[in-house]
Amino acid sequence: MSVGVVIVAAGRGLRLGGPVPKQFLDVGGLTILRRSVESFDRQASVDEIVVVLPPDLVADGADRVGATRRPCRVVAGGERRQDSVRLGLEALSPDVDVVLVHDAARPFVDDGLIDRVIQGAREHGVVVPAVPVRDTVKRVPPGESVVSETIARDEIWLAQTPQGFRRAIIAEAAVLGADAATATDDVSLAERLGHAVRVVPGNERNIKVTTEDDLNAARAAFAPAPRVGTGYDLHRLVEGRSLVLAGVVIPFDKGPLGHSDGDVVCHALVDAMLGGAGAGDIGQHFPNTDPRWKGAPGLDLLARANAVVASSGWAVASVDVTVVLERPKLAPHLAAIRQAIADVIDVPVDGISVKGKTNEGVDAVGRGEAIASHAVAVLTRRRA
Ligand code: MG
Repeated sequence: MSVGVVIVAAGRGLRLGGPVPKQFLDVGGLTILRRSVESFDRQASVDEIVVVLPPDLVADGADRVGATRRPCRVVAGGERRQDSVRLGLEALSPDVDVVLVHDAARPFVDDGLIDRVIQGAREHGVVVPAVPVRDTVKRVPPGESVVSETIARDEIWLAQTPQGFRRAIIAEAAVLGADAATATDDVSLAERLGHAVRVVPGNERNIKVTTEDDLNAARAAFAPAPRVGTGYDLHRLVEGRSLVLAGVVIPFDKGPLGHSDGDVVCHALVDAMLGGAGAGDIGQHFPNTDPRWKGAPGLDLLARANAVVASSGWAVASVDVTVVLERPKLAPHLAAIRQAIADVIDVPVDGISVKGKTNEGVDAVGRGEAIASHAVAVLTRRRA
């Protein structure tokens, strides 16, 4: 017994506005198509997958589908949905005896639903997952705006995918579908052939992404959790150096000793941002053994770290920085420091917090021999 899945992604589905068919829109870092493929690829009970794409997109189809654990073929679709399903079926191995047909635009399909459909197809021959309607259902004749009838709600079920078939039955339905009028789902062809189509419980979450609201809901549901990074820096304070924090020069008789400009705000922030992105640390990207970084302005390192964060697929959402310094008072300079950071990492200034703190005379910082800074950065995933 071998299970094959045909994922239909051949629609042009431009209802969502943009030039990109909806199955290729990004939801939380992966396309809707990839999420649908992944839902089946992770099932031990699935043996192979065929993805049906618009003919002009088959050439780079493997890239669009991505790497899979199970054998996965990409084929060109036909004019109508039922033509695409037939072409997908023809690409399944001969030993496949249970076939699932799934809309690529349903990325929320879950493991339990897939199991129910596979078991149901084995036992009953043809199954459709469906959910009962909750709203009262009215009939309104086409082109009119007056209700002609209230339909008994307990007879109405909303069909979903994947729909499941013994292979012999879907092969028969495909032959009918080649000549028949357009069918909006696959089991309806089996119904016309007189097969008993059994309902298995669907899932309310298994929506077909059709409208802008659906797309937003899908993006919210798949949004990865934000990430957090922390950073810390300390420099000795010596005479003859200027005190610079996020590029802002603070009038004082001492400044940080260091290979670079000793900008502790930027250095702590760089580590927080790189840490949040899982992209190493300041010493790895800007080693102090490299003459390129001698005297490098902190804001320059901050801008470079921000580019590393972006290329890792993340974006800074907010930062919080504490500067620990006995003298001078930082309060008059905090607004300028926040604005300088905001300008470089492209975060609204209300997402940039900078606080000054003394060390109550304790330790080297308290004795005015050093300046330290702590930073936290919150990162969110960038949309591909
Ligand atoms: Mg430093």
